[in-house]
Order: sequence, then structure tokens, then C-alpha cells
Amino acid sequence: MDKNILLREIPQVDEVLNSKEVSKFVNDYPHSILVSAVRDILNQIRNDIKNEKIIAVPNVEEMAVAIKKNVETKATPHIRPVINATGVVLHTNFGRAPLSKSAVNMIEKVASDYINLEYDIKKGTRGSRHDHIENIITSLTGFESCMVVNNNAAATMIVLSTIAKNKEVIVSRGELIEIGGSFRVPDVMSESGAILKEVGTTNKTKVKDYENAYNENVAAFLKVHTSNYKIIGFTEEVSIEEMVNLGRKYNTPVIYDLGSGLFVNLESIGINEPTIPEIEKAGVDIAMFSGDKLLGGPQAGIIVGKKKYIDEMKKNPLARILRVDKFTIAALFATLYEYYDEKKAIENIPILNMLTVSEEKLKEKANKLEKIIKEKNSKLNIAVEKCDDQVGGGAAPGVLLNGYAVSVMSTLPAEKVERILRGQKVPIIVRVNHEKVLIDVRCIEEKDFDKVAEALVSV
Ligand SMILES: *Cc1c(COP(=O)(O)O)cnc(C)c1O
Repeated sequence: MDKNILLREIPQVDEVLNSKEVSKFVNDYPHSILVSAVRDILNQIRNDIKNEKIIAVPNVEEMAVAIKKNVETKATPHIRPVINATGVVLHTNFGRAPLSKSAVNMIEKVASDYINLEYDIKKGTRGSRHDHIENIITSLTGFESCMVVNNNAAATMIVLSTIAKNKEVIVSRGELIEIGGSFRVPDVMSESGAILKEVGTTNKTKVKDYENAYNENVAAFLKVHTSNYKIIGFTEEVSIEEMVNLGRKYNTPVIYDLGSGLFVNLESIGINEPTIPEIEKAGVDIAMFSGDKLLGGPQAGIIVGKKKYIDEMKKNPLARILRVDKFTIAALFATLYEYYDEKKAIENIPILNMLTVSEEKLKEKANKLEKIIKEKNSKLNIAVEKCDDQVGGGAAPGVLLNGYAVSVMSTLPAEKVERILRGQKVPIIVRVNHEKVLIDVRCIEEKDFDKVAEALVSV
């Protein structure tokens, strides 16, 4: 048929909106979203006719189905919860650390009211947003002072810009890391204005290397935690204690980019790293770490150190650029507060809880999920299996945790099952391993088990 005749058959927007089929859901969505959905679909039809993809105008029933789908996508927030069935606890793609109840409550408290964000209630004058968390951080870590910025990359930036602009910073070649995205230590250093002075080799760096590189223009010794890889074999690095000795000898500050930053000892799960208070005792001048890695709080970069350095950082113009908002301060305070009682912290901070849960408990959890899935899908071939879980989030590379998963084998290819689960209203993100789909239970909340079982019905 003549394209022009077909094009003239396309109904008007109002006509579609007033059709019996579309009026069924016309009141479920804001009018303007609906209008834009109808326009999208009519445009699509117009283009399909022009490109000869269709030879007739779809009927209103068909249009209504497409409009409903389009409007639903538009009305669903793009950012939304997913079910993490990957067994990676601090999954950067999933927002790293889910917050504790207390942190969520605290955010709610400060969200809708006026608050004393930058107001000194005692004096009746302007206050500082740093004041709200200074005490809790210094009392938990032992450091003299602190400052919180947007994330640890920002922390590194402001520390170097304050301490070492146009000056040299000595770093081991074995620590010039890249942390996903675009965080590369050499790049952040050059952005901050510091001059990188690399010493040693990829696998070995000695105290002598730092000493040989020292000159009048050196502003700091920097140690960077190799958070996401491990060099094994013929290796040597300079310990933080040795670096502190160097710093004292040359009257030069020692900066430690810890990446994750531990507040409780996690040796029981194979993370053999010093805690922040231990770093303080070692005599480090400045240290920085993320709020949303092993601390289990909101995205933030926490800088701790000697007061004279932190005071300078607070005066740096970058402080305003990198400052955190009231939600971060509120959530961070509540998260830190849990650490006054380590047992409570492990119980109440979700990532600590998920990391330290016993193998037996995980097995029980997997058995429970298996049972719920079986009840709904009696024909599905599933089993409980052991698997390796990970800390994730650029923390504790090489540490594998003993986990449990429900494995699913069906007549469909595993990739297809994976896609079906990912396509759910609450997407379920799983692992595919040798043609099997693994639903790792470590990071799934039990309240979501029904959703997982329900999703498998279509498999
Ligand atoms: C993760 C990490 C960073 C970056 O921290 P963000 O909070 O993600 O900005 C910097 N340095 C190290 C060593 C890290 O592990």
C-alpha cells in the first residue's frame, strides 16, 4: 500500500488517549508521561512505515500494550534496588555497602527538617559541618583530627594538594595502582599538583630506595594500600613502621592511603590488615580511607591525622568543592557509632554481618532457599553447592570466603536464565559458572527468597 495513505491512517494522540484500551490505565500515571509515551509509540509506527518495516497500522489494542510498557519504564525510577546473588559483598556496581538500620534512620531524621549543619547552637553563630563527626572519629581512631570529603579519591586529592603542591612525593613503584574507573595514583597525583617520585621496582622496594630519592623538595612519603591485587613471589616492601622512621629522620610527613580502612579485626575471615587505631599507633601522620568499603557506611573519604595538617586541608579551596552533604554526615555518624561496641557493629552493619556469617549459617540459608524454590518449581533441577565468595570493592584481594549457592540447571542455556532473572521487576543478579546458574545466598536477604523463587517459575 502507498506509504502516504498508511501514514494518514495513524491516529491522533488524543484519539489514542481517549480509546477504551488506553483509558483503562490513564489514571495510573501522570498525564504528561502518558502523552509522551503515546507520542513515542506513534512516532515509532511512523518510522516503521517509512522504513517499510510494517505494512499496516497496528490496532489500538496492540498500541495500548506498547504504550503501557513504555509508560511503565518512564514511571519506574532508573535507580532502584537489585538482589545481589553474586556472593561479592562490597560490589562497587551495586553501590558497595548497604547501610545499617541506624544509618538509614539517621538520614531520615535530618532529611526533612532544618538542622544545625553549619550552626553552632551553643554560641549562636556559624558553625562547621566538620564538627558533627570530628569527635567520634578521633575517639574511635586515636588520631588528633579528621576531615570527611566526598570519597577516598577526593581525600587523596586534597591531601596531596595541601601537603605537596609543586613538591615531590616519594612512592614505591609497587604501589602505583589503578582502582577501577579512572582512579590511578599517578594521575591523581599530577591533578593535585604533586610531583611523583617513583622508587624501587614493581616487586621490590627497600628503605634505601626512599632514602636515595630524598631531597629538599620532597614534601611527603606516600604509602598506598594495594587494595585490588597482590604481588606474590620474590617481593619486598617497606613496612609502615619503617616509613614512619624515615619520616621522623627526614622530618617529612608520612601519608597512608589505606583504601578500605578497618575498624575491627577481621583476621577470622583472612583479612590480615592493621586496623585504623593500629595505623595511628604506628605513628602515621595522615591516613585516608573510604566510608563505603569495609567500614560499611556511606560513600565518603575519611582523612585522619595530625591537627596541623588537617587544619590546612580544611582551608584548602578544594574543601568546599569536595565537601559532603548532610545525608553523608548523618549516615557516617550512625555507622561509626555502632563501632563503640564491636559486637554490635558486626551484628548491625550489614557488610560486616555478611562477611563474618558462619559457614553453617550460610548452608542453612541455602537449604532454606532451595526448599522455597522447590515448593514453587517442583520440576526445576536445583541443588545446594559450595562456592567461593569475595569481599569485593577493591578490598582484600585474594581472600576467598567459603560460601553456599543454590545452583539451577534447566533446559534453557544458563545465559538465558541469567537474563530472565536480571529482567525481573527487582532484578536478581546471579553468577554463571560452567553452564550453571549460581544463586549465591550470602548477600540475599531472606525476605527476598520468595521473589527469587517466583522469578524461577518462568524458567
Ligand atoms: C578504593 C580506593 C581508593 C578510592 O576510594 P573511593 O572511595 O572509591 O574514591 C583510593 N585508594 C585506594 C588504595 C583504594 O583502595
